[in-house]
Amino acid sequence: MPMADNLIKRRITNINPACSFCNNHTETLSHLFRDCEFSQRIWSASLGIVATQGDHLSIQDWIRNFLNLFRKKKQKEERKIESDFISTLWGIWIHRNEIIFNKAKKNPSRILDIISDSNRRLHRINNKQSEFREHVKGDAKTISSKPMEWSSGTKSTTTMQILEVDGAWKNRKGDQWRAAIAWKNKNEDQGEESAARIFANSPVQTEAYAVLKALQDMEWKCSDITIRTDNLEVVQALKNRGRTNKNIDPIIADIKRIARSFHFVSCIKVGREGVKLAHNLATKARKGEI
Ligand SMILES: [Zn+2]
Repeated sequence: MPMADNLIKRRITNINPACSFCNNHTETLSHLFRDCEFSQRIWSASLGIVATQGDHLSIQDWIRNFLNLFRKKKQKEERKIESDFISTLWGIWIHRNEIIFNKAKKNPSRILDIISDSNRRLHRINNKQSEFREHVKGDAKTISSKPMEWSSGTKSTTTMQILEVDGAWKNRKGDQWRAAIAWKNKNEDQGEESAARIFANSPVQTEAYAVLKALQDMEWKCSDITIRTDNLEVVQALKNRGRTNKNIDPIIADIKRIARSFHFVSCIKVGREGVKLAHNLATKARKGEI
């Protein structure tokens, strides 16, 4: 469960301290997940839980108590309630983010959709299917018309955020800041972009850092994301667990780790035109123009 501290550490700013559901109270974790009247209606609708019961507990203990209760159940059907509970927490959290970051309107039925979506996913895991099974969509070697893509997780019903990323790298002696990375959000309602100078030893390492940075910046802000890159090597490295490239292996591992914070992550190889905006940003950043 992401903690408020975490958000502060990640320096996600511009967060309205008021609860995005009721606008009436400071948003603490206990308010958001339990004490807010809006969340209480969600608990009642999804699980028939009266959230005010146990409201003297810290939110951590409150959650722990419920989970302990569910885990005692022996029947498979009864244990289903455990994933319903986790999905409800997830639904509240994601919808809160949709309101804050995507300017969505508060909508209880939207949360219930997220919950049932998450439930389907959790039940699949319970059926011994790996949650983050890597899908290989089309073998680029044999079907050249299909783009090279690596993905993790399963798509939910939330809006797919599409980011293009690019790295700019130049080998020049004495130039410590020889590289820069950038990403740009392609969704119409989002003008977000980011660029930063970094130290990297090669174009492929620069690009891998660009993918990682985009995911780090979007963590907790959305649940489904597609990253467009023009670098085939990075997508191949993500797809091939066996092959190693010392230059980028640790970065690839970091990308896969952070991908687990999302419902769905896809990294797709596109042509240079497809990352033009990010390319311009990265080039400017490398030259120190922004
Ligand atoms: Zn509230």
